[in-house]
Amino acid sequence: MESTTRPPVRLLVFGRQGAGKGTQAVRLAEQFGVPHISTGDMLRAAVREGTEFGQRAKEIMDAGHLVSDEVMLGLISERLAQPDAVNGWLLDGFPRTLQQGKDLMALTGADGIDLALDLDVAEDVVVERISSRRVCSSCGANYSVQVPPTSPWTCDVCGGEVTQRDDDTEQAVRERLATYLLQTIPVVKWFEEQGLLATVDGVGDRDEITEELISLVTNRLF
Ligand code: AMP
Repeated sequence: MESTTRPPVRLLVFGRQGAGKGTQAVRLAEQFGVPHISTGDMLRAAVREGTEFGQRAKEIMDAGHLVSDEVMLGLISERLAQPDAVNGWLLDGFPRTLQQGKDLMALTGADGIDLALDLDVAEDVVVERISSRRVCSSCGANYSVQVPPTSPWTCDVCGGEVTQRDDDTEQAVRERLATYLLQTIPVVKWFEEQGLLATVDGVGDRDEITEELISLVTNRLF
């Protein structure tokens, strides 16, 4: 029987909202054959299911605040225990606080994270990007006013309705950027101190950015 000799690939992707993190995360996960685990997508799925938890999460998300570290740790530890995550994963949107970073490191062990990628985009650029962003309300595929689906506003991937996210309003966006600065920058710096961070300029051609990210991961891991 054939056995895989590929080492596990365990990646984190950081970046302000609107930095292109979601798009690049999907492409990288596909390239390295690992599940793309987006905590934002997981929370939005709970909102769509209409559970009590989903309703609470929606209020927090719409206000641009963060769901508690304890709840997020529970979600992520369950997800990483799934069979598809045994040979690696790519986390998009987690960790978001220093506490989550430390919790994740405790969960995976000190050698359990291979590389954290930071997509660097200035704040005024992301505000412009987010206000034109449109997302499929069923599968989460990303579009924009400039790059709409082939048939507006029906998702090319799943046929779902493509709309503006409730948390992409200007007020919520400002809140989220402030939250990123206050809560997430410290965990990005912490990964840098551990020698695990690679920063990439997130402004420019999407495909070139993907190539740069792939080569960074490849050089680091293989
Ligand atoms: P995202 O799609 O990654 O921008 O996440 C959307 C929203 O979900 C965030 O603004 C938070 O309210 C919530 N969220 C996602 N990931 C986390 C996390 N790791 N910790 C706390 N809240 C989160």
